[in-house]
Amino acid sequence: MKKSICLSTSDAPPSESALSISQYVVGNTVEKCQQNMMRVNTVINKVKYRIIEYHCILGAEMMAYKLLSFSKFCDECTVNNAAALSCRLCVKMTCNITELSNFMEFSCELLNCTKDYVNFLISLGRLCKQYPNFKYVTLSLNEIKANMKELTKKTTEDAGFWNDI
Ligand SMILES: [Zn+2]
Repeated sequence: MKKSICLSTSDAPPSESALSISQYVVGNTVEKCQQNMMRVNTVINKVKYRIIEYHCILGAEMMAYKLLSFSKFCDECTVNNAAALSCRLCVKMTCNITELSNFMEFSCELLNCTKDYVNFLISLGRLCKQYPNFKYVTLSLNEIKANMKELTKKTTEDAGFWNDI
């Protein structure tokens, strides 16, 4: 897996280099998240490079949007908001189902994809936010999706390597 990374980012034109996963700032309102998702999706449909990184950014934005469905977090998730997505307590107690389905509907429509794929992109964004070097992996999105569990496990086991920018 490590051998599959490629550390060259020099093929990116300056105008798009602002979109990097380590510096990327997600939206904090539904409108802003939607705008950002449309913007990143436009870039994805246009470019042939840094495909994984752009999908990671899209996933990070989608995670931020999805988290807006929660009115508040339990003590544990206050420390790590992303954990709320899989926290039974938060999902049950504070998640607004209407907002959540609005998020899903918007995402599936924009990307012309299934809910399953939406959740995959969120997992990818979450992983890459935590381990920025994951963006250099030269696997295809389909390969990553098919092996997401295993890749997440391996990345977490070797956190130092994937964290080191
Ligand atoms: Zn929680």
